Amino acid sequence: MIDLHTHTTSSDGTDSPHALVNKALSSGITVLGLTDHDSTSGWAEAIRAIRPGLTLALGAEVSCLTEDAVAVHMLGLLFDGENKKMQVMLEESRDSRLPRMRRMTELLSADGIDISLDEVFAAMPEGATLGRPHLADALVAKGHVKSRDEAFAELLNNSSKYYVTHIAPSPEDAIRVIREAGGVAVIAHPFATRRGQTLSAMSFPSLIAAGLNGIEVDHRDHSQEEREQLRGIARDLGLVITGASDYHGTGKLNLMGENLTDPHQWEILESMADSRRTVTS
Ligand code: AMP
Ligand code: ZN
Ligand code: FE
Ligand code: FE
Repeated sequence: MIDLHTHTTSSDGTDSPHALVNKALSSGITVLGLTDHDSTSGWAEAIRAIRPGLTLALGAEVSCLTEDAVAVHMLGLLFDGENKKMQVMLEESRDSRLPRMRRMTELLSADGIDISLDEVFAAMPEGATLGRPHLADALVAKGHVKSRDEAFAELLNNSSKYYVTHIAPSPEDAIRVIREAGGVAVIAHPFATRRGQTLSAMSFPSLIAAGLNGIEVDHRDHSQEEREQLRGIARDLGLVITGASDYHGTGKLNLMGENLTDPHQWEILESMADSRRTVTS
């Protein structure tokens, strides 16, 4: 059972990397992708936690913005974690998340939804990539909303007047950097229309020119129709098809292993990295 997209307390998941590995082992997962937002800070703890039966595919989910300001998530897997360009790209994104979060708290507070940056920090695990889910948790703690879900539905979604973007590479640049670092690039939930505006099918040729390897097709946020459309695009363009849970612990409803990647597709994807970089005990 191969689940290539999960989150920990290194970004906006609620399980520590150690707990995530335990959860994967007890769920029967054999290959686990660790893909925290814009960070590799959970890798070391996950590697220490690994036991026989589980293979780790270390990675990150890179937050990207297109020229038209469409938010796109790019999964990078099996890249060299020491690669300078990769780490600089992730760091720039993380650094700009602080002024971005300040602005969002100011916009909310100016509208009578009182929340401070310190309250957001209090809701964020140490060393995590600061994100809207932490703001959501702070809003829950303060009683403004009941859950992360309600916070996103009412206040924090991409169409909300309180939403502010942070610095992010274009999807093409992210793909190039991931590939230069020896890894493989899989576009995450590309047609998840309920998250807001998405890419059009027209964008794929330019992503392929940049080096895109695969498409995450089986994902909770895709309807059956969106999955079939994407499966067709992947087949036509020769891209690997993946499926994954996007597990966030209790931060989201997604259950570990609820969507999986076919072993043959994983084999192809893994062979596209520049060296064997999966981790076993
Ligand atoms: P950010 O990177 O700060 O823009 O925040 C985006 C993150 O918010 C993504 O990782 C999503 O997983 C998370 N997110 C989006 N919608 C929801 C939701 N309804 N409930 C919980 N988390 C969400
Ligand atoms: Zn997330
Ligand atoms: Fe995502
Ligand atoms: Fe994700």
